[in-house]
Amino acid sequence: MVPAMKRCLTFFLCANAVLAQAQYDILLKGGHLIDPRNRISAVRDVAIRGGFVAAVAPSIPAAQARKVIDVTGLYVTPGLIDLHAHVFSGSNGNMLAGGHTSIFPDNFALRAGVTTVVDAGSSGRHNFAEFKRTVIDRARTRVLVLLNIGGKGMTGGADEQNVADMDAKAAADLAIANRDTIVGIKVAHYRGPDWVPVERGVEAGALANIPVMIDFGEFRPERPFQDLVLKKLRPGDIYTHCFYVPVPMLDGSGKLLPYLFDARKRGVIFDVGHGGAAFEFRQAVPSVKQGFPPDSISTDVHSGSLNAGMKDQLNVMSKFLNMGMTLDHVVLRSTWNPARIIHREQIGHLTVGALADISVLRIERGKYAFVDSYGARMDGTQRLTGELTIASGKVVFDLNGMTRDNWDRLGNYMPQGEPYWDGTRGGARPMPLPKQ
Ligand SMILES: [Zn+2]
Repeated sequence: MVPAMKRCLTFFLCANAVLAQAQYDILLKGGHLIDPRNRISAVRDVAIRGGFVAAVAPSIPAAQARKVIDVTGLYVTPGLIDLHAHVFSGSNGNMLAGGHTSIFPDNFALRAGVTTVVDAGSSGRHNFAEFKRTVIDRARTRVLVLLNIGGKGMTGGADEQNVADMDAKAAADLAIANRDTIVGIKVAHYRGPDWVPVERGVEAGALANIPVMIDFGEFRPERPFQDLVLKKLRPGDIYTHCFYVPVPMLDGSGKLLPYLFDARKRGVIFDVGHGGAAFEFRQAVPSVKQGFPPDSISTDVHSGSLNAGMKDQLNVMSKFLNMGMTLDHVVLRSTWNPARIIHREQIGHLTVGALADISVLRIERGKYAFVDSYGARMDGTQRLTGELTIASGKVVFDLNGMTRDNWDRLGNYMPQGEPYWDGTRGGARPMPLPKQ
């Protein structure tokens, strides 16, 4: 206790003295900060004020904050960004392939440290407005959008094969009119032998100057995967589901095929997009071990993958930890890399002045196991859990109540004032992204 406080006559006066000095709303104290954009992986205190990161330093005095949270032994990272999620089912029953449906983002994201999700093509230009009204404008999670080149988005049926409704100019115009939300174009689930959906998607991306994400759909000899990543995609375009078994990755002796490195050198992005059917250890483990880790780690979350091998962002990140990647590298691929991929460099880092989207993670050590999309198992010794999630400076998830007071010190308390769910109830919305 500082000498000035010892001289206080009552607790009330002491509290006032502290508040008078407090310049920060929240201080995360003693954690190991991983901020790949700023090349920090070290013990750092992080202070928040008014929804933004106000200070980052080896030691910030506790007296300077109204709320001090001891995060010693935990990892403090930028709020995680899930580059491939599904959060719009639509009133007309849009369904992903296999009958799985989208989930409201707050129902899974915040509790896994994710503060931003990128919806990968659930909506198209005919129902984007409905998506915005019913989900994006109501969620506590920040939702950005890859607009499906198909007009109706992921209906799970014949609409997704209807090339007549894949209008590059109209998709680009909608993206340009909604630059704050639409960050790219999605092409998915196509079964035909031609390149039309890919070409329309790339055309829309070029018109709006945004990246295109490809889910290649059915793999067909008429349109080889190698041509997709070596010829059709532009630098900065994204192939999702990169560890899906039909992707030609390994030769007969289990060695990585050299063209993958050529594609990466061209600037094509390889995203995980785990999902319900698109992540197999027999592709992922050799790829990581032979020097071809993913550029971004994402979930492809929907009601199917959520309850199967994928589970959540932290579970997918844990798989890569147990394959031998460092936590720093895993965090990079879940924060700063996805931010750059979607051209949103205001997020994914904790530079002073940045929005205070923050995850506090724990590495648990013990005997764990992980399951892929086929159902194959991989044993592991560590697992990431989400302890605390802060979005736009507000606590939105707190696993062990580390920000709260003990019940038996609160007297005859009543559920009034600032409710526990303050950060997540209706009306609390992500702050707009600052101009970059
Ligand atoms: Zn998907």
